Amino acid sequence: MTAIIVHGGAGASEPTRHPRLRAGVRAAAAVGDVILEAGGSALDAVTAAVRFLEDDPEFNAGTGSVLTRDGTVETDASIMCGATQRIGAVAAVPDLGNAIAFARALLDRGEHAMVAGDAAWQLARECGITRAAPGALVTERATQRLAERGTVGAVARDRVGRFAAATSTGGMTGKRSGRVGDSPIIGAGTWADARIAISATGDGEAIMRVALARSIALAAGPLDRAVRAGLAELARITAGSAGVIALDHAGVIGLQLSPTMAIAWVDRASGPGDSMGCRV
Ligand code: ASP
Repeated sequence: MTAIIVHGGAGASEPTRHPRLRAGVRAAAAVGDVILEAGGSALDAVTAAVRFLEDDPEFNAGTGSVLTRDGTVETDASIMCGATQRIGAVAAVPDLGNAIAFARALLDRGEHAMVAGDAAWQLARECGITRAAPGALVTERATQRLAERGTVGAVARDRVGRFAAATSTGGMTGKRSGRVGDSPIIGAGTWADARIAISATGDGEAIMRVALARSIALAAGPLDRAVRAGLAELARITAGSAGVIALDHAGVIGLQLSPTMAIAWVDRASGPGDSMGCRV
């Protein structure tokens, strides 16, 4: 049975935005679900779902990313195939609208696992990625510095039981140019292996300190307990907070999130559904 769950980031406190965020994550989950139901791979499903959210200006990834202190957009993303544990990651790349497409290209090439900064554009062009015009990814909302922390992510299981995870973000509002968060760090913001897939959002500096995604993957017991344990450790050690989406073979979707984290999923074992709110 296939399953996909996507998230739209740790929090948007303005209730007026909630319907748009809900619609966005629901549509992204549907994009991934169509691929999975057609027999496509979990890797293709999470790539497409995250790309969809990157193109939606409501979310802090791709178009609509938060700005650096210098008023620029620098994006981070990573993707991991659980079956092969192949990875691709990009960090602090300027004017990159579809960071997940570049990360996916790195995974497919298998040469470098991670590239960063402006110099990464040389390789991005070789991968067929087009650079956005300066300012093209900057939305009015981002200029007003209203965007809060956020990230988008997707985890999926395909028909043959393979897992994949993908995460993409503009990072945190007002970050210094060159700052890299947890999202492109494999084992922190993203993890997938033969039995689990995880994508995180929240305080990147804290998530990195506990290698959150990998620590959840290593925890024994049911998925929701593993997620809770990971988040409890994060809170205890760092005083930070995070939201997580996770999926395992049990067909269970484990999640722990801020009260306004937008989440949608399609779990073919238990029927489609979506939620915005805390469901733990
Ligand atoms: N984790 C992201 C970062 O620190 C931001 C977020 O998810 O809210 O870059």
